[in-house]
Amino acid sequence: MGRIRILSDQIANKIAAGEVVERPASVVKELLENSIDAGATEVLVDAESGGRRLLRVTDNGHGMLRDDALLAFERHATSKLTTIHDLEAIATLGFRGEALPSIGSVSRLVLETRSAEEPSGTRVEIAGGRLLRCDEQAFEPGTTITVRDLFYNVPARKKFLRSEQTELTHIAQLVTHYSLAHSGKTFRLTHNDKELLHVTPVAELRERVFQVFGGQALEDLVDLKIREHEGYVLEGFVSRPQVQKLNRNSIFLFVNGRLIKDRLLLHGISSAYHNLIPPGTYPFALLFLQCDPSEVDVNVHPSKTEVRFRQGTIVHDFVRDAVRESLIESRPAPSFGVPSPPQMAAALPFSDFTQSLENHRFDEARPVVPLTLEPGRGEELPVFTLRPAPAAEPRFDFGGASIPLTEKSVQPLRLRVPDTHGGFPAGVDESAPASLAGLSDLRVLGQIHESFIVAAGRDGLWIIDQHVAHERILFERVLRQMAAGRVEQQRLLMPIVVELTAAQQIEYDRIAGDLQAAGFETEPFGNRTLAVKAAPAGIAAADLERVVGEVLDIAESELRRVSVDDLRRGIAASVACRAAIKINTPLEANKMDWLLRELGACAMPMSCPHGRPIALRYSTRDILRSFHRI
Ligand code: ADP
Ligand code: MG
Repeated sequence: MGRIRILSDQIANKIAAGEVVERPASVVKELLENSIDAGATEVLVDAESGGRRLLRVTDNGHGMLRDDALLAFERHATSKLTTIHDLEAIATLGFRGEALPSIGSVSRLVLETRSAEEPSGTRVEIAGGRLLRCDEQAFEPGTTITVRDLFYNVPARKKFLRSEQTELTHIAQLVTHYSLAHSGKTFRLTHNDKELLHVTPVAELRERVFQVFGGQALEDLVDLKIREHEGYVLEGFVSRPQVQKLNRNSIFLFVNGRLIKDRLLLHGISSAYHNLIPPGTYPFALLFLQCDPSEVDVNVHPSKTEVRFRQGTIVHDFVRDAVRESLIESRPAPSFGVPSPPQMAAALPFSDFTQSLENHRFDEARPVVPLTLEPGRGEELPVFTLRPAPAAEPRFDFGGASIPLTEKSVQPLRLRVPDTHGGFPAGVDESAPASLAGLSDLRVLGQIHESFIVAAGRDGLWIIDQHVAHERILFERVLRQMAAGRVEQQRLLMPIVVELTAAQQIEYDRIAGDLQAAGFETEPFGNRTLAVKAAPAGIAAADLERVVGEVLDIAESELRRVSVDDLRRGIAASVACRAAIKINTPLEANKMDWLLRELGACAMPMSCPHGRPIALRYSTRDILRSFHRI
C-alpha cells in the first residue's frame, strides 16, 4: 500500500492555491523541502547555467514506492496530509501535493527513486506534464530528481528569467539558508561542476554558522543561545550594533525549520535595535523559532513563505526581548575588523551572499565560496578573508574579486558590556571585563576641533565624539531613573508655554502620565497650549519647547502603535540629545576624563541612542601596518 494519496476536494479547496514555480530557485526550494521531509541526511544540489539548463537534487531519504512514484505527479497527491485536521498542525515542509506536478509540467523531469522496502527502484520521465516512460531500475535507496530546460514549453515565463548569475544567487542563498536550518545534515551545491557550498553535519548551529560564514563573521554576531517562553523556543544569531545593513535582506527567519518572511517578526527584531542602530538601517539576523505546529498557520500563501501566528503579540514581544537582552548581555569581542558605515556594508564578512555572488566573476577557476570544512579539522576556512594587499592598502578578497577597503583603518569601538537588571542597564559591572577596563584606562591626550576627544589606550588611539558619548550616558541614566520612578527634575522659575498642533494635543492627552514619569510637570493651559513647570534636569529652558514637541511627535509617529517601552526610550533619547554637551565646546581635561569613565560604565557604549557610532579606534596593529612595520 503506497503512502501517497490524492487529497479530497474538500481538503484541496482549503489549500492556498497558486503557482509555485517562478524561477529555478523555487524548484530547488520545493525539491529541497521534499528531501528534508523524506528524512534525508544528505542533500546534493547540482545546477547548470543558473539552473535553467539543469537542476538536480539527490537525497538519501526514504524514497518512494513504485506506485507512489507515479502518483506523486498528480495534483494534490501527498503523503503528508490525510484529514482536514492535519491542515491545522502541519509538521512537514510540504503539504500541498502540487510541487512535483507543477515542476513536471514546465520542464523535462526525471525522477529516480527507491524505497528501502522494495528491492529495486523506479525511473519516471516526464516532459511538459506528459508521462514519457516509467521503468524499473537499480538504485540505492533515496531520490534523485533532475529538472532540465525549465520553462522550455512556456516561452513567456522563460523570458522573465534573469541572468545566470542572478538565478544562481537565488539558488545559492536558498541552499545556504536551508543548510543553516539543518545543521545535522550534509548539503552540497555545485554549479557547472564547481563546488559552491559543502557543509558536513555538525552538532550545533554555531558550528554551521562558522562553516557557512566563517570565523570573522561569528565574532560580529551575538549568539542568542536557546531561549524559551510560553512554549516558543528561539535560537540564532543577530549582529552587533556596529553592523548596519541598508535593507532587510540579511534577516533570515525560520519557523519550525521553514524559511519565512514575516512582518511581525521583522518588526520585533527592528524594535530590539531601536536606539542602537540608525533609523532606516537593519541588522543581520538568523533566527530559528520552534513552536507547536498548531500555533502557526503555514497555509497562507502557495509558496509557504508567509505564516500567521495564533498569538502574534506574544511571539513579537518574545523575539524583541530575546534579541534585546542578548545584545545587552553580550560581551563584544575586543577587536573589530571591519568598517561600520552602512555604505561599506558590502565589505562586511557576512555581507549579503547575494551581493558577494554578484561580485564574483564566473570565469574564475576558484570556487565562488570556499566553504568546505571537514569536521574536526579545527582550522578556519572563512567564506572570505580580509587581508592586506601587498601594497599596503587593505583589500577585501572574495573568491578572486578584490575590493579595496580604504576606510578600514579607522575602526569602530568595541567594548564589553556590563550586565543588566530588569531589562535596564544597571551601570558598571564590577567584575570589570578586560576591554571595559581598557576604556577607563584611556589617557586623554586632548580635544580636536573642540568636538572630539583623542585618547591613548593600551590598544591604540581612540577618537570619541563628545556629544554622542554624553548622549549615550544621559540616555541610559534617564532610562534608569524612569524605571526607578525618580527622574532628576529641575523646576522652572517661570512656566514655559508650549503651543501644540491638534495632533500633538491628542497625543498629549494620551501620554500625559508618561510625560510625568519622565520628569515633565505639565498642565493644560487654555486651548492647545501647555504650561511646562518642571522638566528633566539638564535641558536648557530654550530647548524645552523642542523636546516636548519631539516627544509628542514620537508618540504620534508610528500610528500610535508605540509601546510604553518605545515611548520611554524616545523620551530618554530626546532629553539626552538636548542635555548633552554640544560639539564645538571646549572641554577641560577632568571633564573629558569623567566622560570616558561614564561611557565605560554604559551598557551599550558603542552607539548613541540614534544609532551613530561613538568612538573610533585606530588599533596599534593598524598603526604598525600603516607605517609598514608589519
Ligand atoms: P508535498 O510535498 O506537498 O506532499 P510534492 O508534490 O512536493 O507535494 O510531493 C508529492 C509527494 O511525493 C510527497 O508527499 C512525497 O510523498 C513524495 N516525494 C516527493 N519528493 C520526495 C523525496 N525526495 N523523497 C521521498 N518522497 C518524495
Ligand atoms: Mg513538496
